[in-house]
Amino acid sequence: MRRVLGRIALIGIALLGVGAIYAYRQVSTVDAERVTDDVHVLFGLGGNVGVLATERGAVIVDSMTFRMQGAHIREIAEKIGRGPTQAIINTHYHRDHTHGNPAFAAGTKVVSTQLTRDYLLHFDAPYWEGAAAGTLPNETFDEAHELKVGGKTIRLQHLGRGHTGGDLVVLFVEDRVLHTGDLFFNGRYPNIDLEAGGSVREWDATLDRVMALDFDRVIPGHGPVTDREGIRAFQRFLRELWSLAETAARQGKSLEETQRLPGFTADAGYETIGIPLVFKLDRNFVIRRAWEEATGAVGAAQVPVRPVKSKGGAS
Ligand SMILES: [Zn+2]
Repeated sequence: MRRVLGRIALIGIALLGVGAIYAYRQVSTVDAERVTDDVHVLFGLGGNVGVLATERGAVIVDSMTFRMQGAHIREIAEKIGRGPTQAIINTHYHRDHTHGNPAFAAGTKVVSTQLTRDYLLHFDAPYWEGAAAGTLPNETFDEAHELKVGGKTIRLQHLGRGHTGGDLVVLFVEDRVLHTGDLFFNGRYPNIDLEAGGSVREWDATLDRVMALDFDRVIPGHGPVTDREGIRAFQRFLRELWSLAETAARQGKSLEETQRLPGFTADAGYETIGIPLVFKLDRNFVIRRAWEEATGAVGAAQVPVRPVKSKGGAS
């Protein structure tokens, strides 16, 4: 018996070791892919990172999940970005887009919406205590902001609620590339952060405003690089999701009944994102969030959100 237990313990330790190696690989692997001559995307554990090369150095969009990844991102970005980091842009406050920031020098220009900075300090304050505070967003705006760096124009806009209440999109003007942050998940179930001002109801209209911008290639927050059609397909998914939830709410259906309803097909081929026992973004998750918003089961966000004035091309 003791021998059997010993063997089980050994197998357990070996499995933990394999798990640890796997986890380490996941965290330490950052792959670069060219989008245009001057724009690259970095893939790793967390949100997609955009890197713009300028005559003065790199402009980086988001920084993944761990400080260690931030160090990898910095090294790769400064090579392909042709010089030192000129600015980091955080598309929203989630840890898988911001927690690499502290690998950069304190005082590096970090740009976000004011709401994103507010949410970081509201939902994630312990991480940003001490030295990490030096890489909190230090240049913020409400609706629109433009950076001119080494011959390049970078246009930042907050176009409404969706994934959170404070997301921005980044337009690399000369390269005609848009980094959407998590306002667009390509082929994967999205997170919907109702507690931080997110909204399935408003998300589609926010993406209409995004589509009014001038770009060809699209770097989503998660999933492969695509084009405008990729965003349109995601809008169809959001519309179908909202209409399912809204109808179910009107008919007084329970969450379980709503999750079993037929007719929701726009997610065909979508991949689940998750870490076992920690979180899972799948079909049931997105239906639950939409149902919670439609029925009022999750009330209005307890954090500020900013109404966006209707702009050209948006309805
Ligand atoms: Zn996110």
